[in-house]
Amino acid sequence: AAVRAATATGTATHCPYCALQCAMTLTPEAAAESGPARLSVTPREFPTNRGGLCQKGWTSAQLLDSPERLTTPLVRDTKGAPLREASWDEALDLVAGRFRVLREERGADSVAVFGSGGLTNEKAYALGKFARVALGTSQIDYNGRFCMSSAAAAGNKAFGLDRGLPFPVTDLDDSEAVVLVGANPAETMPPLMGHFDPARLIVVDPRRTATAQAALDGGGLHLQPAPGTDLALALGLLHVALVEGHLDTLHRVAYRAERTVGWEDVRQCAARWWPERTERLTGVAAADLRRAAAALARARRAHILTGRGAEQHSKGVDTVSAWIDLALALGLPGTPGSGYGCLTGQGNGQGGREHGQKADQLPGYRHIEDPAAREHIAGIWGVAPESLPAAGRSAWELLDALGTPEGPAALLVMGSNPAVSAPRVRRAVERLRALDLLVVADFLRSETAELADVVLPVTMWAEESGTMTNLEGRVLRRRAAQAPPPGVRTDLEVLHGLAVRLGRSAHEFPADPAPVFDELRRASAGGTADYAGAAPELLDAGEAVYWPVRDTTGGSVREATGGPERDATGGGAEALGSPRLFLDRFAHPDGRARFLPVEHREAAELPDAEHPLYATTGRQLQHYQSGAQTRRVPELLAAAPGPYVEVHPDTARRAGLADGDTARIVSRRGAVLARTRCVPSLRPDTVFLPFHFPGGGAANALTNPALDPVSRMPEFKLSAVRLERADGG
Ligand code: SF4
Repeated sequence: AAVRAATATGTATHCPYCALQCAMTLTPEAAAESGPARLSVTPREFPTNRGGLCQKGWTSAQLLDSPERLTTPLVRDTKGAPLREASWDEALDLVAGRFRVLREERGADSVAVFGSGGLTNEKAYALGKFARVALGTSQIDYNGRFCMSSAAAAGNKAFGLDRGLPFPVTDLDDSEAVVLVGANPAETMPPLMGHFDPARLIVVDPRRTATAQAALDGGGLHLQPAPGTDLALALGLLHVALVEGHLDTLHRVAYRAERTVGWEDVRQCAARWWPERTERLTGVAAADLRRAAAALARARRAHILTGRGAEQHSKGVDTVSAWIDLALALGLPGTPGSGYGCLTGQGNGQGGREHGQKADQLPGYRHIEDPAAREHIAGIWGVAPESLPAAGRSAWELLDALGTPEGPAALLVMGSNPAVSAPRVRRAVERLRALDLLVVADFLRSETAELADVVLPVTMWAEESGTMTNLEGRVLRRRAAQAPPPGVRTDLEVLHGLAVRLGRSAHEFPADPAPVFDELRRASAGGTADYAGAAPELLDAGEAVYWPVRDTTGGSVREATGGPERDATGGGAEALGSPRLFLDRFAHPDGRARFLPVEHREAAELPDAEHPLYATTGRQLQHYQSGAQTRRVPELLAAAPGPYVEVHPDTARRAGLADGDTARIVSRRGAVLARTRCVPSLRPDTVFLPFHFPGGGAANALTNPALDPVSRMPEFKLSAVRLERADGG
């Protein structure tokens, strides 16, 4: 049945937070005696969340009328002065004027833009166009670089195309073995757990996370490797599968021969990772390796899914490639009912990486250095191809260059909070402070907004319309359920206002999302992430449109994307586009997937005498990303009030710490304070900190910005640290 947009019983939309984009209905409650009517949240039946929501989703409407909402632009007259209220005209005139002067005096790259995987498709598209056309700068990247960029790069290498899940979430229901590598959906996206049979889960994680515990409780497996050894573990599993004959079935032999290239090189890599060697490096017992390999290999339908734990490393791309190699050896990708996928994290982590807010990308998931891509996009934008900038700095490199003689002097941040979420975050804050002009569009005074010279108050998710693309590549409707507070504008209105002040015409930067989406569809046409056929009426008819979706029939989709399936089994009333990719062919020109030979290598830093422990970071059930939103929801904050460090009891005892004591955790980049939480199931060589908190407990004060050479992903998941009592005792 068609989804009703807005009815007497509420507005059908999706959760503002993670990439599962759970379906919900927003309904006005009776107005209180004082203050406006509140919206109530009820879950909506949808194939991904099946009527479920997590605590974050249930409480998501509470921020809409938070007293901390920003409703007036704020301006700082001089560095060190307090922010003061200003009119929209004053704020936008100031920003555009300073941008214009900087461009004239120091060149277009003196102004930079930092976007977000939380922005709607329309905003992500408009932000990329704003940077390249209105500012003419190459200096644009976004926080998605810190999210799934390693999996994206590995997927592109192996398959010729990156879509988080190249199959609907509902395919996981019938899987007989699901390997979750560095993913903890029981906390990050709980309704996804409803698609897994715990007995069939194989969880790979240095911690016994809630997901690992669910697997163990249900009869599944938990492999607990040392941080930074996932790549070797994948090779070890492949070795076992190889020598125990699991790869010799007719299907697997034919699959490798007909659908892949490069197997022999990978076979030789795996041959060197016999179980005892793998056990020595990873700490995973050889017997567990054999059990896991057998469970995976015997499954008639199986999936391997990676998350940030595998990806946020200076060898993140190679690590994901090793797991894809295992999937290919088993014949999973492109086989109905099986596959490899990445569990994208941010709400629009998928769409956010397709429309041109990434340093090296143009809309349609095109590469910015590709002459044909430049010509096509320049034609849509009405500019000369040679006027489009080249690729700019990646997210960390951009942040680290801010305010330096060679780097940008001004930055516009939209939908992101790098003052908490960046690696080596105290350096990032120093660089933000060093800017001539920091402009932040946000709906709350985030830690980044607190540093800004100009803060622009913008709408929240329930006050705006647009589209989001979930972790399956399914295009979803975001619908406005209420008007924004007076004085607040949308991000598109902000870009419109700035672009016009910078001399562009109003029709180039519409403030209304509908014409932006229409232009996005035309810009994406023929690209990898083709939205051309995602007509608004189709989105309204059931939200079952998956990219690539062309607006005409013909062979080019098949050529470009590897044989999309057009069926009605992806959930929703009428599936359109490509719920399942790669069924006939992969997206490389010869139609074959690529095995990629990879070798284990050490992390950028390892524990030593001074810093003898691994530190790894991650999320808590109650909080999302930098916590800027969820820390302001009273019941979420009450349940998860502040920073803590998980430590094995023996490790804590050696440091003189007991459960509840304040610990000092020190890496080569800084120190943080956190409450000790003794966890017997943790590896004694590893500590864990959630990354949602600012200030003295900011886990990212410890993290290492060593970058993957391909994806430019920082090594968030592994730092060498030592543990001390906070009082020095
Ligand atoms: Fe929202 Fe993600 Fe929770 Fe669903 S799982 S309610 S999308 S935060």
